[in-house]
Amino acid sequence: MAETSGENHDVELGGHWSPRDCLARSRVIIIIPYRDRLDHLKRWLHHYHPILKRQLLDYRVVVTEQYGNGIFNKGRIMNAAFLECRKAYRFDCVIFHDVDMLLENDLNMYVCGNDTTPKHLSPAVDQFHYKLFYLGLVGGVLAIPVNTFVKVNGYSNQFWGWGGEDDDMWERFVAVNATVKRPPLTIGRYTMNKHASRRGQANYTMIYPLLKTSRSRMRSDGLNNISYSLVTVKLHRLYTHLVFDVDTSAS
Ligand code: UDP
Ligand code: MN
Repeated sequence: MAETSGENHDVELGGHWSPRDCLARSRVIIIIPYRDRLDHLKRWLHHYHPILKRQLLDYRVVVTEQYGNGIFNKGRIMNAAFLECRKAYRFDCVIFHDVDMLLENDLNMYVCGNDTTPKHLSPAVDQFHYKLFYLGLVGGVLAIPVNTFVKVNGYSNQFWGWGGEDDDMWERFVAVNATVKRPPLTIGRYTMNKHASRRGQANYTMIYPLLKTSRSRMRSDGLNNISYSLVTVKLHRLYTHLVFDVDTSAS
């Protein structure tokens, strides 16, 4: 897939980098859900590696893809990537990152901070006129301390198609009293790459009832009941690429 490297020859195979002359404050895994957006992925890699290095992070970029052409389930491939990363790497902060979101202000630090609170890094997106679209928005770019992600049992596995798993995550945070932090709108600014709208793929008759049961469901729907198989692992120059079969027959 995307092999742009250029100035990033110092990035380790698999998309890992850490500062040589100091100890990074945080170890971060960035998980990017991906399907058929190669241009966006190339742009992402080109844009972020220099920024993440300047921020002196110990970070790894992980692209998670769903095997086959079945209906997309972003929650499942993000959960599966998290669980596989936990087996293989040590990290304290996970950042879930849409592939089309390009940060504009690199004062926006890609770390979780010292407390247990999640941080929604992307409150100001060009498409929404750089205003927070709604209070419970945690889509786009979301940093979560590993312990907090485990505490909320990860993402729901039940959202198929488009949308919902992020709003469900907000409800999970509320349930465990994890107040979501955000950078100021002047700092949390992003450009979203153009793509066709997927809103037509939203199944609102599935989404709305599920969002009513988020808090009662969270204990039994997430990291602890996901079924998947890891189909391939490939270490690319600038990222680790995981492909998961997430069992589209089940819901
Ligand atoms: N995504 C993808 N290919 C798809 C659909 C989704 O790679 O066909 C990933 C990608 O990271 C994308 C994210 O899921 O940024 C959210 O999807 P999308 O951008 O379509 O959602 P929207 O911008 O409408 O919220
Ligand atoms: Mn998008």
